Amino acid sequence: MIKIDIQLSPTSRLSEVDFADLGFGKHFSEHMFVADYTEGLGWHSCRVEPYQNLSLSPACGALHYGQALFEGMKAYKNVAGDVLLFRPDENCRRLNASAERMCMPTISEELFHGALETLLKIDQAWVPTTPNSSLYLRPYMFASEAVLGVRPSREYKYIIFSSPSSLYYNKPVRVRVEEKYVRAAEGGTGFAKCAGNYGAALFPTREAIKAGYDQILWTDGHLHQYIEESGTMNVMFVLKGNKILTSPVSGTILDGVTRKSILQIGREWGYEVIEERLSVETVIQAAHDGHLLEAFGAGTAATVSSICTIGYKGNDFELPEVTESSFSRRILAYMEALKRGQIEDTHNWIKTIKTT
Ligand SMILES: *Cc1c(COP(=O)(O)O)cnc(C)c1O
Repeated sequence: MIKIDIQLSPTSRLSEVDFADLGFGKHFSEHMFVADYTEGLGWHSCRVEPYQNLSLSPACGALHYGQALFEGMKAYKNVAGDVLLFRPDENCRRLNASAERMCMPTISEELFHGALETLLKIDQAWVPTTPNSSLYLRPYMFASEAVLGVRPSREYKYIIFSSPSSLYYNKPVRVRVEEKYVRAAEGGTGFAKCAGNYGAALFPTREAIKAGYDQILWTDGHLHQYIEESGTMNVMFVLKGNKILTSPVSGTILDGVTRKSILQIGREWGYEVIEERLSVETVIQAAHDGHLLEAFGAGTAATVSSICTIGYKGNDFELPEVTESSFSRRILAYMEALKRGQIEDTHNWIKTIKTT
């Protein structure tokens, strides 16, 4: 077991939070986990302490050269009061893949899981039980050494804080096929959950919003002909004949835990899952012919975010309204019930943290 020092907050802010009206990312739980990395020493000084501001050198490497990455996870409570995590091993694996790409140190499974478990036991009262809510967890790492020359930092911090949150998106979104800007290029960092990817996406997203859309449907950086992701989610299309189409994961597409889980369940439910490079033309033609039944984004924050409109070259293609029998509704209900421990975990995807 890794050694984690614990310094508890002398007071509690819990009573200040209205759990019936959480919003997304508005509140931060009482404690955070922090570990320091020093070249030669490895990870050390693991601790849980009150959520508070950090003290950093103005020359801290993350702030000018962008050596920073993150993960996003959610914790739920079952009826017994245990805290549940959904496939946390996948987040650990991906965090380390991001770290390798960014020349940052990796984290052992023991540290990754030990930190989450310790923090969640301490802040278990912050895991909401109100409908549609959960404790959003944000593990992240950044270069903390004072550096001026461009090189990998020799010091890092790994932190986990959390936010009791309600739904991220609640209504179907309008997306625009992006034909000018690029989220990720071949050989770049698209597969990594590194901070720079998100900063770079803000401007094109704002342009799409100005044009009356909610999100971007990203295309490949070379020809803008193949669909990659939607906003910060993987994207899937349901066609007549029980077919689910999505792009395969690659160097430019993030390997989403929600994505792979939905595809696996889709196959088990008898859908034909087609993971092939997916051209914009294919999707637009299917929408035009009435073969396209559903389109949705898949990610931890929203699980499933329905797309109602696809804007392409000045035309808006409206999708049929989702109903209770739509795949996206059924998979959302299934995944939510699974994550809350309300149905049998036949895949062994849930990690239970006993709180008593
Ligand atoms: C985090 C993220 C996803 C979704 O991954 P999950 O593991 O399902 O949360 C998809 N695309 C991008 C760009 C992301 O950052």
